[in-house]
Amino acid sequence: MRADRRLLVKTPTRYDSPISDLLQRVRDRGWRLTPQRRAVAEVLDGEHVHLTAEVVHDRAQARLPEISLATVYNTLNELVAMGEVLEVPAANGAKRYDPNAHRPHDHLVCTGCGELWDVFANGTGTPGLPEKERRGFRVTGAQIVYRGLCASCQATEP
Ligand SMILES: [Zn+2]
Ligand SMILES: [Zn+2]
Repeated sequence: MRADRRLLVKTPTRYDSPISDLLQRVRDRGWRLTPQRRAVAEVLDGEHVHLTAEVVHDRAQARLPEISLATVYNTLNELVAMGEVLEVPAANGAKRYDPNAHRPHDHLVCTGCGELWDVFANGTGTPGLPEKERRGFRVTGAQIVYRGLCASCQATEP
């Protein structure tokens, strides 16, 4: 009886578009997938995705014209709080949202054009923060942002 019910729960629901990794992750966590949340999660799906809230809003509006910027911000904050989306401090202070939350990585940011790439450091990514600088924290993660000029910006440098 119990096994049957579990099977029923696991039966994939049919959707008009394929379920992305991010959508699947938040559904597995029991996040109620309202049309607004779904639009945001769909926009954020993919590799090397680092979008500002404004761009997420633009693209979500293409799917759901009535979605507001405030709803997009709230949804992004929820996804960040759940640990399913990362906030990346990019060039010129604009935060970018990154769905690649389960594979620890760093970022390369071009201070010329603002382009941003995922990069994977050697080793486990534990940064060299000395014990005495940790203020008693149990450090569970870090994000390193490497800033510089990308190859194409260097090529057009005066
Ligand atoms: Zn550049
Ligand atoms: Zn990233």
